[in-house]
Amino acid sequence: MSSAVIYAVFALALIALAVFRLFFYRQWRRDRELNKAFPDAWRSLLSRQVPLYSRLPERGRKQLEQRVQLFLSEKPFYGCDGFEVDDTVRVTIAGHACLLVLARPYSDFDDVRSILVYPSSYRVEQEEDDGTVVSVNHEIRAGEASGHGQVVLAWSECESGAVNPQGEHNVILHEFAHQLDYLDGSADGAPPLSGDQARHWQRTMSEAYQQLQETLQHHQPAWLDPYGASAPAEFFAVLTEAYFQQPQHLQEAQPEVYRALFAFYQFDPLQPDTHPGRAR
Ligand SMILES: [Zn+2]
Repeated sequence: MSSAVIYAVFALALIALAVFRLFFYRQWRRDRELNKAFPDAWRSLLSRQVPLYSRLPERGRKQLEQRVQLFLSEKPFYGCDGFEVDDTVRVTIAGHACLLVLARPYSDFDDVRSILVYPSSYRVEQEEDDGTVVSVNHEIRAGEASGHGQVVLAWSECESGAVNPQGEHNVILHEFAHQLDYLDGSADGAPPLSGDQARHWQRTMSEAYQQLQETLQHHQPAWLDPYGASAPAEFFAVLTEAYFQQPQHLQEAQPEVYRALFAFYQFDPLQPDTHPGRAR
């Protein structure tokens, strides 16, 4: 065989490898991961830490397990301030996060690169520059999400959301909702939607956001955690918490908002026993 033929064969093999890596490797790896059995210990943790899991029909539970399995095989967790990340932490966070993509494509979380977990609320330094003076403020946070795919969570806050499934707050749902918001490149409170759905979302959410702000300005009782009125991105994240944790209240207070969220999540927390939809 001439050296030219050897080079040609080698080049073709490299091209084939690059094509496989680019287009098929991720799916091949995911299929391989899903061929492994889901550990019983993780199933017990989901039952204990993610109350909605037990209310899903069998195929819904299976679907959540598959998403959790992929999530835990792909997303690295890092403990901060000496916090030790064990399976309870990993399965609790993955279980709640994956509720958001239970009936949506799992690929919505492709850009999530890492999860940092602090033992409890943590302090961050925030620099503020008003043009003449730069000041440093200290802020206490329960979690945060970045457009670079990093999610930071305080475990004590995660736990309280998990053990209080009808409560107002769930920091895991909140921060991963921000990740869905980032999917179209901007944190504007509007996740990727198109056509009529996008128009309905825009109209419904703008009206509801304005209504919430006016309610708060008049010091009247609000139908949503007031933090949701701080920015459209926070509105979507806080709405997501309410949608999964207090669906009855949200549907009664804002039926159009509830409908818009259902159109996006394709899963109805008021009827978790209905099939959550598409598989991947
Ligand atoms: Zn937020």
